[in-house]
Amino acid sequence: MAKKKLVLSFPPRLIQEPVTYNLIRQYDLQVNILRATVHPRERGRMVVELQGSKKSLDQGLAYLEEQGVQVDTLVQEMRHYDERCVHCTACTAVCPTDALTVDSQTRELVFDASQCIMCESCIAACSYGAMESQF
Ligand code: SF4
Ligand code: SF4
Repeated sequence: MAKKKLVLSFPPRLIQEPVTYNLIRQYDLQVNILRATVHPRERGRMVVELQGSKKSLDQGLAYLEEQGVQVDTLVQEMRHYDERCVHCTACTAVCPTDALTVDSQTRELVFDASQCIMCESCIAACSYGAMESQF
C-alpha cells in the first residue's frame, strides 16, 4: 500500500465534477479529505490523503492531471516542541486522530506525526505554543 498527502487545486469548471468519487470508484483509492476550501466561480483547494496500490496511485494522479487538477505534494507538517510542552494533555481532547496520546506509564504526551491530518486543532488548544505547523 502506498500513501500520499497532496494539495489538489481545481479550476472553476471542475468544482462541480465528481473527481474524488472517480478516484474511489475507478481507481480503487481511499480518499481522506483533510481540508477543503471551495468558493463558487473560483479555484477550489483540497488537502487529501490518497491510499492504495502504487499502480492505483499512479493512475489516479495521471487522471487528476488529465482533468486539469494541479497536484502538489503537501510539504506542511505539524511540529511538537517538547521543550515547551508541560504535558497538560489538553491537546489530546481536540485531536481527531491518534496523533496526540498520553503514555500510560509516564503520563507524558506522545506525538505520532504519521497519524496527523493537519487539522491544526491542537494549535489553538495549546496555551504553551508547543504545537506549530511548518512549511
Ligand atoms: S496542550 Fe500543549 S503543553 Fe499541553 S500536552 Fe499538548 S502540546 Fe503539551
Ligand atoms: S493537527 Fe490535528 S491531527 Fe494533527 S496533531 Fe494536531 S489536532 Fe491532531
